[in-house]
Amino acid sequence: YANKPSYSMLYDYLNETKVEKVMTKAILLNEDEWVYDGIVTLFLNDTGTLYVENDGKLVGAVSRKDFLKTAMGGSDLHKIPLGIIMTRMPNIVYTTKEQSVYEAAKKIIEHEIDSLPVIDNSSDSDGFRVIGKISKTNITKILIDLCEKK
Ligand code: ADP
Repeated sequence: YANKPSYSMLYDYLNETKVEKVMTKAILLNEDEWVYDGIVTLFLNDTGTLYVENDGKLVGAVSRKDFLKTAMGGSDLHKIPLGIIMTRMPNIVYTTKEQSVYEAAKKIIEHEIDSLPVIDNSSDSDGFRVIGKISKTNITKILIDLCEKK
């Protein structure tokens, strides 16, 4: 990198680092679980977004704002399933473990969301299997790692 400005190195790093390297565990619940249990799961796992599955396939996502909206509506949280309040497929933005961190970060910013599910790229036409997630926190962490030369 002797003749390159230092931002070129950051550019290469974000382009060459795969999602696989920075993804973390996705928290998944079934679409027939109650909103109340979803909120408890959110707190217990210290996460901001839950992914929703049906038969092991991704069907939706539920975030903090979705839960807040439902709670403000005043209905019984023990009687509403996640399937009712989630953002559903095909509107879920996702990534794969082979995509670059740069591509994933761009999707997060373009769609104004906090995280993306990482799906198995051998997933077939009848659905995607979630193998992890990548969030703004993971992406910030790789910048810290880079500064600390890890
Ligand atoms: P928060 O609600 O904590 O601010 P987000 O900004 O990620 O979290 O969520 C905003 C909205 O986008 C919510 O309605 C949520 O269901 C939806 N959402 C979250 N993740 C995704 C995703 N990967 N693809 C599509 N929609 C998503």
